[in-house]
Amino acid sequence: MNRMISIGFEPMKKESMGQAFTIFFARSAHNGGMRTKRISFLLALAALATACRGPVELASERPIAAVAPDPAAPAPTARPSSPAAGTLSPSYRGAAATPTGVVVPVVGHTTRGWVVGTPCGGTVSVGSLQPLDGTVVLDAGHGGKETGAIGPQGNKESAFNTAVVAHARRALEAAGTGVVLTRTGDYRIAIAPRAAIVAAVKPKAVVSIHHNASSSRVRSVPGTEVFHQAVGASAAESRRLAGLLHEEVTATLARYELTEWAATPWAGVKPRRNAQGDDFYGILRRTQGTPTALLEVGFISSKAEERLYARADVQKAVGQAVARGVVRFLSTRDPGSGFITPPRLADDNRSGGGTENCQDPPLG
Ligand SMILES: [Zn+2]
Repeated sequence: MNRMISIGFEPMKKESMGQAFTIFFARSAHNGGMRTKRISFLLALAALATACRGPVELASERPIAAVAPDPAAPAPTARPSSPAAGTLSPSYRGAAATPTGVVVPVVGHTTRGWVVGTPCGGTVSVGSLQPLDGTVVLDAGHGGKETGAIGPQGNKESAFNTAVVAHARRALEAAGTGVVLTRTGDYRIAIAPRAAIVAAVKPKAVVSIHHNASSSRVRSVPGTEVFHQAVGASAAESRRLAGLLHEEVTATLARYELTEWAATPWAGVKPRRNAQGDDFYGILRRTQGTPTALLEVGFISSKAEERLYARADVQKAVGQAVARGVVRFLSTRDPGSGFITPPRLADDNRSGGGTENCQDPPLG
């Protein structure tokens, strides 16, 4: 699960701080086998409501690690609390929340505090952190100025992704499953930092949630697509996770009576490889070793579906469907369904998830 080095998206700026960390990310400079082009291209893509697939994320409240009391310890004089600021061990190297609620991987410690990776791929020292732990990482696609697809009525994919992730998290936590989010607000976060959070958490499953664009046909059943890893030790389990998510999400969507659902000819559960034969999508490639699936709930580019996915009750239902799929993945050997064998698609030049013009949110 630590095999997150490979190829990412755009070249990252070389910052002066944290050279090793920067170099690490710089090695991940190109995603999808394409030398992608810069933010102007990204913005153009967003303006065209181009498909969202691939890179980025978001979420809301902060996940908290439960701290079990030590039975041998003297009775506390006050209620036990989660680790106070400044009491976290200098050697801690997991995921953590900054005082502003941004989730970060902890990569070192200096006299100025913990060194953490930032959402834009840099490093910074933070004086106070809350450790995070979870069985599952939920990754809400896109965020900030990188909105992902935009629907005909102006809805942002990033907001839909955030809403579904929040509901999925709530349902998983209600079921006793700890969750860490890669994005906890409406800010940009590149793909490599998302994968670094996954590496820090070491979860049993990762789900990246997106809404799709660029359909080419309509059909009578939802056009949900779920991508799984094709490469690495987690490929088989990634496929099973994707199949269970597809089963639950399509069953939930089918309750809503749309007469036409947008689709491509390749709706269903499938891998996608890049020109080198590796996983095409950065969030799947960089998390190889940890079962990860990328869910495209449906098409925000369809007016009727955009209206559907904008409904709070539908967002909740989809989030709960995601949670059911994850719980079944963790607690059963159910195989899932909806698998297809897609044609080999050429790499495309859609991009995102890089660090060009990326601005970190406040961290401390
Ligand atoms: Zn997307």
